[in-house]
Amino acid sequence: MLRITFSLMLFCFCLHLVGCQSNQKVEKDNKSKQYLMVLGIAQDAGFPHIDNPHEWENYKKGITKKELATSLGLVDLASKQKYLFEATPDMPLQLHNLESEHLKTNRLIDGVFLTHAHIGHYTGLMHFGREAMGAKKIPVFAMPKMKIFLEQNGPWSQLVSLKNIEIFPTENESLVELTPNLNVTPFLVPHRDEFSETVGYKINSPAKSALFIPDINKWKLWEKDIVEEVKKVDYAFLDATFLKNGEIPRDMSEVPHPFIEETIALFKSESESIKSKIIFIHFNHSNQAMNRDNSDRKLLEKEGFHFAEEGAIFPM
Ligand SMILES: [Zn+2]
Ligand SMILES: [Zn+2]
Repeated sequence: MLRITFSLMLFCFCLHLVGCQSNQKVEKDNKSKQYLMVLGIAQDAGFPHIDNPHEWENYKKGITKKELATSLGLVDLASKQKYLFEATPDMPLQLHNLESEHLKTNRLIDGVFLTHAHIGHYTGLMHFGREAMGAKKIPVFAMPKMKIFLEQNGPWSQLVSLKNIEIFPTENESLVELTPNLNVTPFLVPHRDEFSETVGYKINSPAKSALFIPDINKWKLWEKDIVEEVKKVDYAFLDATFLKNGEIPRDMSEVPHPFIEETIALFKSESESIKSKIIFIHFNHSNQAMNRDNSDRKLLEKEGFHFAEEGAIFPM
C-alpha cells in the first residue's frame, strides 16, 4: 500500500513538474538535452485583441499580461540546434526568448516549420526580409500549397527571390530528420484552407513524442481519431481557440474549431494519465480558460488536463 501511495505521489509530482516549469532555466544535464518549450499561447490575433478597449485598458493597468501568438520552440543542446514552430507576428520576441533563455549560437534559428497561411502562423516571416533582418537562407519547411503561396505572392515572394529564406518542401506524413535524435512529421488536418493546406506536426525523439495541432476544424471531420492519436504520444498540444459555443458574438460556424468542452467530452472516459497528455493552446482572446484563475479551467486541471503557458518546458 505504501509503495502504491509513493508511486502515486511520484506520478503526481511529475505531472506537477510538467505543468510548472514556466520561466525556469533548463538544467543543462543529460535528462534535458532536448526539449520543447512554449513561446506563445494565443490565437493568431494575440491578447489583448484589436478593437477591444476593455482588454487593452486592463493590460495597461497591469491587470492582465500580453500573450504572444501560439508557437513552440524545439532545442537540442547536444547538437546545438534550435527550431521554431510557426512564424508568428510576435516572432522577433519569441526568437529572442529562445536565444537568450535556451540556446545562443551563431545562427538565429536552424529552421522554421509552418502549419498554414493564416496570419498568426506565417506572417512573422516578414521579419527575415530586407526591411528587417535581411536574413540569409533561413530554412523554412513548408507543404506544397504553402510553398507555392509564398513563392507566388508578394511580399513573401521577395523573401524567396532575395534568398532571405530557403524553402524546404515537406509532404504529408513524410518524416523530416533534424538530428539523429529528433524528427518531425507533418500531417494534413481539415481547416479553412483559403491560401494553403493546413498541417499539424508530430515531433519524435527516441524517448518522447509530441503532437502539435494548433488549428483544426471539428475533430469528427478529421480522418484520424484524436483520442487514439493522443494515446500514442507523450504530449498533445491541441487547438483551444474556444472554450464553448456562444463565446463570440458572431456565427461560430464561420470559424469552426473543436470547443474545449467538445474535446474534453471525447476524453471523458479516459484515465487521468491520458487526459494529462493534453496541453491546450491557441486561445482566442474570448476564451476565459486562458486565465489561470478561471473556474472552468481549474476544474479541468483537476481532471488532469493542462493549459499551455509561455515558458513551459517539455523534455523530449
Ligand atoms: Zn490560428
Ligand atoms: Zn488558422
